[in-house]
Amino acid sequence: MKTRFIKRFPLTILVLAALAIPLFLFAESDRTHPTELYQSAYRLRRQGATLFHRGEHEEALEKYRESEKYAELLAERHPYWNPEASRLFIEEVRALRRGLQESIEEKRSWENPLVAHFIDVGQGDGALIQTPDGSNIVIDAGWGTSPAWSRRAPNWPFVLNYLREAGVEKIDLMIATHPHADHIGGLVKLLEEFPVDVVLDPGMDHTSHSYELFLNAAKNSPNTKYMLGRVGQTFEYGDVEVQILHPSERLLPKANDVSIVARLVYDQVAFLFTGDAETDAEREILVRGRPLRANVLKVGHHGSRTSTTPSFFRAVRPEIAVISCGFRNTYGHPHRETMLRLQTANVDTYVTAEVGTVVIASNGRTFDVSLPGRAYSSTYSVAPEYEGKVIGCRTYRIFYPPDSIHYRSIPHEGRVYFENEAEALAAEFIKSSH
Ligand SMILES: [Zn+2]
Repeated sequence: MKTRFIKRFPLTILVLAALAIPLFLFAESDRTHPTELYQSAYRLRRQGATLFHRGEHEEALEKYRESEKYAELLAERHPYWNPEASRLFIEEVRALRRGLQESIEEKRSWENPLVAHFIDVGQGDGALIQTPDGSNIVIDAGWGTSPAWSRRAPNWPFVLNYLREAGVEKIDLMIATHPHADHIGGLVKLLEEFPVDVVLDPGMDHTSHSYELFLNAAKNSPNTKYMLGRVGQTFEYGDVEVQILHPSERLLPKANDVSIVARLVYDQVAFLFTGDAETDAEREILVRGRPLRANVLKVGHHGSRTSTTPSFFRAVRPEIAVISCGFRNTYGHPHRETMLRLQTANVDTYVTAEVGTVVIASNGRTFDVSLPGRAYSSTYSVAPEYEGKVIGCRTYRIFYPPDSIHYRSIPHEGRVYFENEAEALAAEFIKSSH
């Protein structure tokens, strides 16, 4: 076959061969002569270094890679040509290439980090987690406002603005840890303002005004799926998994102990959100034996001594802890025992009452903590023609007479004006106690 083929096309083959031989020889001599190879490798490494110093890291990496290839070729084809120099060169350029590659990967891993915001909501809990794939998870949102409101202005205007400023347009998962007003209050307004995909609630029988408002808002929100949060459920948002660790079908008797406990895992890091789970809940979670280890712990029940029991704390072994509570709150949170436990274990602890909002970003391996500042309570003007009227808050259906300390705490767009208290009561609004 071969001979016949050559016979058939002798001239073509000869011409092609004649053309190819000098090219081949030239290329070979250029690429295989040891000095040439060494010089090429050296030149490429130098070009890499220049590019690196100019800040063109990707291009520098490419030059280092090529340089490494030439150096390897030299060692492979000419093992007796100055072996010590070849070996040293390969080691050096490889170290440069690896170092640069790692720093480029590290930089790239921070382009889309996971960001957990522990929002300063005063005495309460409120967290927003933004995942690398752009999903938003909200776990509690502080007080809305309630007739038995503490002497603080409602913080939902702050939480709402915070979410808007963080670029939230939609909430993918909303977790109402348990039916207490310092956790679910603010969720009512968020349900009104944002489309919410899934709402998780422990589903405890509870008849408070805040819980009624929350349930109505969650169940009447048109495209929202209301679900009971139960151990074993998992939710996935890109590379982030949310594992529900508590409660089970059989709810414990205390509202704090029905708290939905969620472990959020992203690559090599985990966050644990425990709501107000106390001793009994922690014991039940431990007995179930699911993984609890977390780098970041949202400390249970505002740092109360009734949570973060030694065995639970040992199972979590956090490096960073966040305690969400109000400045000089009447409960004395965080309790000394909890603070001592965290300090003794060298946990990097942040208390929102002291530092304000805590933002923890992670690339899946390490963390970056930033403190954007304290929450503020805005006051809003009342136009002269409305001065003296009763102001109602549309979302929470609470009204504030002119002598109320919260008279100027309701943003304009959320207001309803009444001539007097009787009119507000007739519209089924409840009077604020402050
Ligand atoms: Zn609470």
